Amino acid sequence: MIHPSITTRFAPSPTGELHLGNARTALFNWLLAEHNGGRFLLRIEDSDAERSKPKFTKQIMEDLQWLGLSWDGEILAQSQRGAVYREALDKLERAGRVYPCYCTPLEIEVSRKLQLASGRPPRYAGTCRTLNDSERTAKLAEGRKPTLRFKVPDSGLIEFVDLVHGEQRFESADIGDFIVQRADGSAAFFFSNVLDDALSGVTTVLRGEDHLSNTSRQLLIATALELKVPTYGHLSLITAADGSPLSKRHGAKSLRELREQGYLPKALVNHLFRLGHSSDLHDLLDIQKLAVGFKPAHLVRSPARFDPVQLEVWQRQAVHALSSDEALAWMRPQLPDTLDSASAGAFASVFHQNLLLPSDAAYWVQVVFGEPPEHDAEGIKLIRCAGPAFFKAAAAAIRMHGTDWKAVTTAIREQTGRKGPELFKPLRQALTGRHDGPELARLLKIITAARAIARLERLSSAIA
Ligand code: GLU
Ligand code: ZN
Repeated sequence: MIHPSITTRFAPSPTGELHLGNARTALFNWLLAEHNGGRFLLRIEDSDAERSKPKFTKQIMEDLQWLGLSWDGEILAQSQRGAVYREALDKLERAGRVYPCYCTPLEIEVSRKLQLASGRPPRYAGTCRTLNDSERTAKLAEGRKPTLRFKVPDSGLIEFVDLVHGEQRFESADIGDFIVQRADGSAAFFFSNVLDDALSGVTTVLRGEDHLSNTSRQLLIATALELKVPTYGHLSLITAADGSPLSKRHGAKSLRELREQGYLPKALVNHLFRLGHSSDLHDLLDIQKLAVGFKPAHLVRSPARFDPVQLEVWQRQAVHALSSDEALAWMRPQLPDTLDSASAGAFASVFHQNLLLPSDAAYWVQVVFGEPPEHDAEGIKLIRCAGPAFFKAAAAAIRMHGTDWKAVTTAIREQTGRKGPELFKPLRQALTGRHDGPELARLLKIITAARAIARLERLSSAIA
């Protein structure tokens, strides 16, 4: 079913920021092309001049590049292709496959309501299908601006095999004549979309399930124009954990927001790879490996549930997988500008494994280079329980042995009789204000002996 030489595409409408759903569509098309050594095209569906914004086109391109989805060849913008659509529409007009419709939106709405009220599925009633020339002239004289509608055959079946949903069958009689050219002269979605796919040699289209019912109309157009049609696969929707449509409320952010927060592209693509695509690959993989493992047969029909916690799991793994240089670059914006590169590098190497997002670095920057924030009630208890002598001994040990961790802890143990958690817990609390974090031995080195001694001594006298 998949063509030997495959061409896929992503065809976003630049009317907003990319969200997880669109990003997944782009990823799956890219993976499919990559898996088969084929081509992945980018087409901007910006024919709706009012809602399309160049800033969104730019952002979509940035998001795709950031995810690692490079496209082949020139980007096609539908707003530049009016002449191509015009020519194909003319062809349909000459063949008598389309006709002008003069109904106003209000008239269409009234007809829709009447049909619904009488229990019929609403569709275009065919009002203008049989107008003669003088009736048309009269409508025009009223100042009505016609759309063009496609004449859907009165009977027959439209059948196709969907890569995800299997065999599909639609009754032609259930489909009303639909608009292929809007009143402003621009080509409608159904039309430009299928025409562009054919003209660009697109062989396979993975797109959102919300387009499944459009496909029969698009196939009718393709047949009328004798175009080669792509194989379609309609991807299940992404929902929130409770099954409702995904929204901001569920922590669903746009790609730009996630990128700005410091989510890594690798975390995103690994997460998206498993949304609506069942896989036996459970490790964090780079995108090339994901392409090897991508199988259209593994696309699932049931809605895919987005779980922000799962994204965090991938993020944690992706952060772990960063090299020290990459980790430094990733968290650098959160580190003080005044920090020299050696200290910044040391900081990144110690904290790299402890952060989920760069913003988590802020606390540790404070701990290492400033004073640790206040101790909480539990921390205060721990400190009081260890007592002033313990911190005095710890300060003395560091004064004596610097940041030589083994020597420092041995000295504290000999002096106080505390060892293991009895020793580490209050020390960690005193130095960092927390009960968890990176290894103390490494931490002490970047906190520096001088700062550690000052902290311990101050604490010791504060509780004495
Ligand atoms: N512009 C359409 C959308 O973003 C494209 C649908 C398709 O991929 O065919 O929903
Ligand atoms: Zn009409």
